[in-house]
Amino acid sequence: MAGLEDLYREIILDHYRSPRNRGELPTPPAVRVEGFNPLCGDEIVLYLEVENGLVSDVKISGQGCSISQSSASMMSAAIKGKGVAEVRSLIRTFKSMMSIHEAQLEPETDRDELVTVVDPDSFGELAALQGVVKFPVRIKCATLSWNTLVQALDELESPSEHTSS
Ligand code: ZN
Repeated sequence: MAGLEDLYREIILDHYRSPRNRGELPTPPAVRVEGFNPLCGDEIVLYLEVENGLVSDVKISGQGCSISQSSASMMSAAIKGKGVAEVRSLIRTFKSMMSIHEAQLEPETDRDELVTVVDPDSFGELAALQGVVKFPVRIKCATLSWNTLVQALDELESPSEHTSS
């Protein structure tokens, strides 16, 4: 398994060094949502634009640790061009990957055995982040951008709550 963990580390570092979809979008049409993880000081600013039910554009700014920033980069690459329903399903899969592990993290658990829940072939580069569950304090770093994405989708789907008309 050492080879797989090296690969995961390489993927995370690659996204940290060369983040995808970095920048900002005009609002509107995009929504802008900020996320903050006080445990680590990570900050994510997500710009999301949805057109005809598809994520037509996404940009990320902010700063933080390698896990938070690479997770946001991978997320942006995974959702761009996808339908909103598919994106929601991806969010559920990602969060269950993290929460299943979180629930199983009893002190006596052998954490090396936990890093096999998601098939790398079916989950692409995102599978690299499941290595994070071996370090429970970093799970919030990995899920920060995904929680921010949920907020952005909710805001896009009920814009009436955010206008004063
Ligand atoms: Zn962090």
